[in-house]
Amino acid sequence: MTTVLISGGGIAGPALAFWLRRHGFTPTIVEVAAGPRPGGQTVDLRGISRVVAERMGLLPAIAERQLHERGFEYVDARGRRQAAMPAELFDGAGPVAELEILRGDLAGILAAATGDAEYLYGYSVTELEQDASGVLVTFASGLRRRFDLVVGADGVHSRVRRLAFGPHDRFVQHLGGYSSYFTVEAPEDLQHWMKVYSAPGGLWVGLRPDHDPQFAKALLGFRSPVLDYDYRDAAQQRQLIRERFTGLGWHTRHLLSELDRADDFYFDSTSRVVVPEWSQGRIALVGDAGYCGSPLAGHGTALALVGAYVLAGELATADGDHLRAFPAYQCRMQAYVDQRMELPPGGIRMAMPMSSAGIGYRNFTTRLMTSRPFVGLMAKLVVGKPDAIELPAYARDQAHW
Ligand SMILES: Cc1cc2nc3c(=O)[nH]c(=O)nc-3n(C[C@H](O)[C@H](O)[C@H](O)COP(=O)(O)OP(=O)(O)OC[C@H]3O[C@@H](n4cnc5c(N)ncnc54)[C@H](O)[C@@H]3O)c2cc1C
Repeated sequence: MTTVLISGGGIAGPALAFWLRRHGFTPTIVEVAAGPRPGGQTVDLRGISRVVAERMGLLPAIAERQLHERGFEYVDARGRRQAAMPAELFDGAGPVAELEILRGDLAGILAAATGDAEYLYGYSVTELEQDASGVLVTFASGLRRRFDLVVGADGVHSRVRRLAFGPHDRFVQHLGGYSSYFTVEAPEDLQHWMKVYSAPGGLWVGLRPDHDPQFAKALLGFRSPVLDYDYRDAAQQRQLIRERFTGLGWHTRHLLSELDRADDFYFDSTSRVVVPEWSQGRIALVGDAGYCGSPLAGHGTALALVGAYVLAGELATADGDHLRAFPAYQCRMQAYVDQRMELPPGGIRMAMPMSSAGIGYRNFTTRLMTSRPFVGLMAKLVVGKPDAIELPAYARDQAHW
């Protein structure tokens, strides 16, 4: 019964706990928040990540919470359509996928699926001391416990990575922007579309449908060099948002009026995480903690789900021998991770133009590329290549499919 401490109860952490339990390991999850974190926008499950969700038996629960977005639309300051990509244009393989769910709903489904795995909410790791037989873990509460293995699934700001691999700045590259996500009362004109209004200065005001039509998920994003702020201080982050967005058009005033009462407010930099080696002795990384292309690249949830599946499967194949399992996990995942961390053409400059002319140009090219003569070419760009990984069938999973 190999014991595994997982730091982080987001997406990668519970997914890893699920598979570890199925393979006969004993996972414990520590999550710094007081309970499951509900926030986040829509995430999509397609390709190999959908296969993993299917192997977990989660598709019925996901289907119950599935969103039905009609597509993606750029609007102007008065809400008038400037360019649109209806979902059916790319047969559910474009920016809006066939299987979409809110990140918070998926996190809840994953946590429920881990059965009676041990969860310690409000806990965080402060020290890791590894020796030949295990890792002695000290928590902020003063509690000390030994585990055979430790996995950091604690996101872009991973504490495990900081403690066992090196300082944050060595692995995290700022891509020039910040985003916040939170739930608001839905305005009437959303009509199941994801809508984005861009304002000069690299400002994004977005709204996406919630599965409850009374609500919508807001996104306020802005371009900026690195800011000096406390990533745990939500009041300071709300202020950063207010300073930039006050006075803008479309539904901005409504979003700002809901900012203070949103209990799922989430704010983070647009950052990329590249860690050359995903393990150090008995300690490994999974999900954003080890590899993250930023929200611009998308695919964070897919990488977390697939990474958890492969890490647990390789540990099972190696009978818990981390010296064989951890390198095998990285070897199997690396090409897929590199592929899914690629940024879309133009990166943040194309997505969040600084000038009115840049916004007009982006809207024009989107209209052009979604017009009949070019839609085939656009499909090639947005649909992309198949996942660069062959998903193994690890011995003990198969009985459950
Ligand atoms: C509340 C929230 C909302 C998000 N919304 C979006 C979104 O709208 N769009 C998007 O592209 N991405 C979003 N993300 C990021 C997205 O979930 C990840 O990119 C992706 O799903 C990979 O998941 P992950 O489990 O690796 O990381 P995450 O989902 O970020 O999970 C990491 C978990 O670790 C916990 N944690 C952090 N530090 C510690 C610590 N020291 N000790 C213990 N636990 C710790 C965090 O509280 C979090 O629950 C969001 C993340 C969170 C936490």
